[in-house]
Amino acid sequence: MQKEFQFQVLPEEAADQEALYKLASQKAYIPFSDIRHVEVLKRSIDARQRIIKVNLTVRVYVNEDFVETPTWLPDYPDVSSAEEVVIIGAGPAGLFAALRCIELGRKPIILERGKDVRDRRRDLKAINIDHIVNEDSNYCFGEGGAGTYSDGKLYTRSKKRGDVQRILKLLVGFGATKEILVEAHPHIGTNKLPEIITDIRECILAHGGVVKFNTRVTDILLKGDAIEGVTTASGDIIKAKKVILATGHSARDIFELLDRKKIAIELKPFALGVRVEHPQSLIDTIQYKCDDRGTYLPPAPYSIVKQVGSGTNTRGVYSFCMCPGGVIAPCATSPGEVVTNGWSPSKRDQPSANSGIVVELRPEDFKAFAKKGPLAAMAFQQSIEQMAWKEGGQTQRVPGQRLLDFTNGKLSADVPETSYKPGVTSVELGSVLPDFIYKTLQEGFREFGKAMKGYLTNEAVVHAPESRTSSPVRIPRDQETLEHIAVKGLYPCGEGAGYAGGIVSAAIDGEKCAEKAVGYVAEVVGE
Ligand code: FAD
Repeated sequence: MQKEFQFQVLPEEAADQEALYKLASQKAYIPFSDIRHVEVLKRSIDARQRIIKVNLTVRVYVNEDFVETPTWLPDYPDVSSAEEVVIIGAGPAGLFAALRCIELGRKPIILERGKDVRDRRRDLKAINIDHIVNEDSNYCFGEGGAGTYSDGKLYTRSKKRGDVQRILKLLVGFGATKEILVEAHPHIGTNKLPEIITDIRECILAHGGVVKFNTRVTDILLKGDAIEGVTTASGDIIKAKKVILATGHSARDIFELLDRKKIAIELKPFALGVRVEHPQSLIDTIQYKCDDRGTYLPPAPYSIVKQVGSGTNTRGVYSFCMCPGGVIAPCATSPGEVVTNGWSPSKRDQPSANSGIVVELRPEDFKAFAKKGPLAAMAFQQSIEQMAWKEGGQTQRVPGQRLLDFTNGKLSADVPETSYKPGVTSVELGSVLPDFIYKTLQEGFREFGKAMKGYLTNEAVVHAPESRTSSPVRIPRDQETLEHIAVKGLYPCGEGAGYAGGIVSAAIDGEKCAEKAVGYVAEVVGE
């Protein structure tokens, strides 16, 4: 017999099978000797009270042996001679689109401008150490896309996006820990992601798909109102009737290409701000209300949102992509710009906690760039990244300011070393950020300081800018067919097209676009 129930335990109890048996026995009135196994189905930390508890949903096996469910992957057929679907971009959207194509009997041809995960490492080293940005291979471009050298957080704010659990199960099938199916806020970590991405690529190749690295798409070929193929930087023409465009939010050349070719795109407001780094121990103290988090609690995350300003000037300021025990990375995709983002290893064991703190933007914020039409938000984003590069010293050094100095508009006398490897230059960040963003962030941080005692400190360092939070452009598509509103056979997909915001939602969108491209119609269960 199996019994499922929920209870709260202390963190040390959650880590101890014997303790869980005892608790299950007491709470469910099951004789201890009848319990064969306690399987944890869901786990989350409740840090709202002084005594921190872990919420568990468990399944107790009573006089019944536990049989571990094997990891699952679909029964992928060989598609080497099947009809082709061209996929531009090997980020989560492109890779999951390719897997779904294979599952549904089509041959995916992935064209990726960057290198495979192993060779990509050299370019990450070059940007961190030598300040050299490779425009095709960096933290955003290359196999696995922006998701590879990331924190690998796997939760999505909107449950409406689709079947999150299916994506998590696929990731487990490709080698991710089963814990991601249990944790309320699962993450994988930069050290584990490349291996998973490699396994996905090997699966695609083993079943007859094609993956071409160092292959930047430079043109989209049309015949009337339908796609006919693409051209690559080396001049090759690849004919295709179905093209999934999953090039991510940083592929500015693709947005410019679409605009030049008069393939409709739209301005999309995004969020922009800074990335702040605190000692992890300080965040632990604030969040867990204790001096030391001990052995059983993970490095504490935080998530905060405040509305600041008044009337029509009210704006949301919020934490974005918070990385406990993580590192701030230089994420520029072109020389002459500075961009920050964050990652963490699977253990999140680095000494600092970093988070994007961003301000929501509106269409009217991009007025100064109106002549750029639908590319106005992108031009605004680019101008701030270029200003950061200039103020930081025209290398990958990032302009930075101590947090309290930032809120007081005061240049920091010095800025300590942070996890951002290329280095930090002390700059009064009002010279990098537009005034309305600077002031909104200052007010936002003051509000955060009231909600999280100790947060507003000069021990923390603000780095600017955090600017690639989501795409500054939307590529409009038909809600039903998911094809571009004016180009048959072209499927704008993932974060760059404006239909995802993170690894899991990009993967879900990749699957959806693949289904439409192959003409798959889901069976309706129960009719
Ligand atoms: P992308 O991942 O951007 O992939 C697009 C791909 O297209 C790239 O590989 C690029 O090289 C390729 N490409 C671009 N132009 C061309 C072209 N012209 N020809 C051929 N190929 C092209 N999200 C989370 O959910 N959790 C996190 O913890 C997280 N942390 C992050 C940390 C960092 C450092 C970064 C940079 C991002 C992070 N993100 C995180 C965001 C996440 O990575 C993206 O939301 C996700 O990768 C978007 O997937 P995508 O497939 O739509 O696009």
